[in-house]
Amino acid sequence: MIYDVAVLGYGPTGATLANLLAAQGVSVLVIDREAAMYHLPRAVHFDDEVMRVFQTVGIADDLLEKVRVNPGMKFVDDDDTLLLDWPRPQEITAHGWNASYRLHQPDLESLLRGKLAQAEHAEILTSFDVTALTQSDDCITLTGTAQNGTSRTCQARYLVGCDGANSLTRAVIGGGMDDLGFDERWLVVDVLLKRPRPDLGDHSVQFCNPDRPMTYCRSPGIRRRWEITAKADESDSEITDPDRVWQLLSRWITPEDADLERRAVYTFRSQVATCWRSGRMLIAGDAAHLTPPFMGQGMCTGIRDAANLAWKLAACLNGADERLLDTYQTERAPHARAYVETAIGLGGLINAMDRDTALKMAEGGGSGATRMRSIAPKLGTSALSDDTTHACVGRPFGQVDLGAGQRGFDRQIGYNHAVISPTQPEQLPPNTQWFDPAEHPALAEALAALGTGAVWIRPDRYIGAASDSGHDLLDKLSLYCDTQDHEQNETCFP
Ligand SMILES: Cc1cc2nc3c(=O)[nH]c(=O)nc-3n(C[C@H](O)[C@H](O)[C@H](O)COP(=O)(O)OP(=O)(O)OC[C@H]3O[C@@H](n4cnc5c(N)ncnc54)[C@H](O)[C@@H]3O)c2cc1C
Repeated sequence: MIYDVAVLGYGPTGATLANLLAAQGVSVLVIDREAAMYHLPRAVHFDDEVMRVFQTVGIADDLLEKVRVNPGMKFVDDDDTLLLDWPRPQEITAHGWNASYRLHQPDLESLLRGKLAQAEHAEILTSFDVTALTQSDDCITLTGTAQNGTSRTCQARYLVGCDGANSLTRAVIGGGMDDLGFDERWLVVDVLLKRPRPDLGDHSVQFCNPDRPMTYCRSPGIRRRWEITAKADESDSEITDPDRVWQLLSRWITPEDADLERRAVYTFRSQVATCWRSGRMLIAGDAAHLTPPFMGQGMCTGIRDAANLAWKLAACLNGADERLLDTYQTERAPHARAYVETAIGLGGLINAMDRDTALKMAEGGGSGATRMRSIAPKLGTSALSDDTTHACVGRPFGQVDLGAGQRGFDRQIGYNHAVISPTQPEQLPPNTQWFDPAEHPALAEALAALGTGAVWIRPDRYIGAASDSGHDLLDKLSLYCDTQDHEQNETCFP
C-alpha cells in the first residue's frame, strides 16, 4: 500500500499533524522508533493559538482538565529585584482560550495519541527505526529496522519528518541549520512535591544571576521544575548527582518536601533549518527549528507548523499545484525565527550579561520598560499570504462567538476554509464555507475592527486575503486549487 503521507516521528508535532491529516480523509502512516511515548516532562507551557489547534484536533476540552492557566513570568536579579514582568492576561483572548497554559507534555501526547487511535485513516507503526529515505517522482520509500531486527520498507506520496532535533529527514533534504548563536548546557530538574508548598508561587521566575542563571516553573499538579545553568567545568554526571541537585535547590526545597522525578542536562540551541522541503519530503517541529525554552515555544512552534502544513498537503493530494507547498517554509520559517530570536534575547537577560540588549529584544522593553508582552509575529510573506493588500493578511483571525456559545466559529468551520464576504463568491473552492456578515453581527464587528469588508480565512485560522468587496478574495487560493473537484467535501470535525 502507498500511504498518502508518512509522518516520521510520533512526538507532539507528528501526532498533531497526523490528526489533522487523518481528519481530512488523508491516509497516514505514523512511524516512531520508540515502542511508547516519552513519559518524562519536557514542554511545560503552551499558548492560546496552540490550544486553538488542539480544539480543531478535538482534544481541547479534555486537555483543559489537565492544565493550569499561567499567570506569567517574572525576571528577577540576584537580590530578587524585579527586572522584567511578563504577566499573561487572565481573560479569554481573541483565540477563544487563555493566553498561556502550564502542562505536563505526556498528558498532551496521550490525548493526541488517543484521538489518532480513533481515526479511520491513520496507522501507527512503533518500534521501527527508519534508516534510509529515497524519493522518486511519485513517492517516498522509507527503509528501516523493526524491533525484531527485520528490515522493512513503507511507501507514501509525501513524507513529513517530525523526527526531532537530530532529524534524518533534514539530513536527507540537505541544507543544514542556520545557527543563531545560543548554545548552553542546562540542568533540568523535575520534582514531585510530597507536601503543599504554596510559598513557591504560581508565577514562573527567571533568576538572572550571572554566576548561576536559573528558572523556576510552576507545573500542573504536584510537579515543579527548576532549570539551572551548568558551568563549563561541571560534567553532566557531576551536576546530575542527587546530592549536588539538592544542594542547588536548597534555597527553595529539600528532600523532605519532594522527590526528584527527573534530572537531565540538555543543550539549549537556537537553530532554524535552511531548507524545509525537497520535492515530496518536508520537515516540521524540532526537525526544522530549535529554541532555548525561555519562552516555552519550542513545541508550540511545531504545532503551528502542523496546522500550516496539513491542509496544504491534503490539497496537493487532491490535485492542487505543488507550489502550494513552497508557501510552507516561506510562511513558517520567519515566524519560527521570531520566537527563537526573542528567546535568545530573554536568555541574554537571564544570563544578566547584557540587560539593555535583552530588554530591547523583549517587546515592550528597550526604553527602561520592565513589562513584556507576548510577541505575535506575522506569517512570512508567501504567494498565499502577501500582505500588500491589507495589513491583516498573514495574521490569525479571532475565534468569534456566532451565537451558539464561545468557540463556535472554529467548531462550525472545522479544519476548512471560510470566506466572510457580503457577496457569495461565484464558485467556492473545496472545503470552503461562506458567511454573510449581514447575518452574523459578530463577524461584521470583526471585519470592522480589521478595517476590511471581506476576508478569506485558511484552515490554520490565518487570514489569506482581505478586500473591500470580496470579489478577488479567492484568486490566490484558486491559483493553487482549481484543479480540484469543486464539490464540497464532508467536514470531518464535529
Ligand atoms: C527542558 C525542556 C523544556 C521545554 N519546554 C517547552 C515549553 O515549555 N514549551 C514548548 O512549547 N516547548 C518546550 N520544549 C520543547 C519541546 O519539548 C519540543 O519542541 C517538542 O517535544 C518537539 O516535538 P517534536 O514532535 O517536533 O519532536 P520530538 O518530541 O523530539 O519527537 C521526535 C520523534 O521522532 C522519533 N524519531 C526520530 N528519528 C527517528 C527515526 N529515524 N526513525 C523512527 N523514529 C524517529 C523519536 O523517537 C521521537 O519520538 C522544551 C524542551 C525541553 C528539552
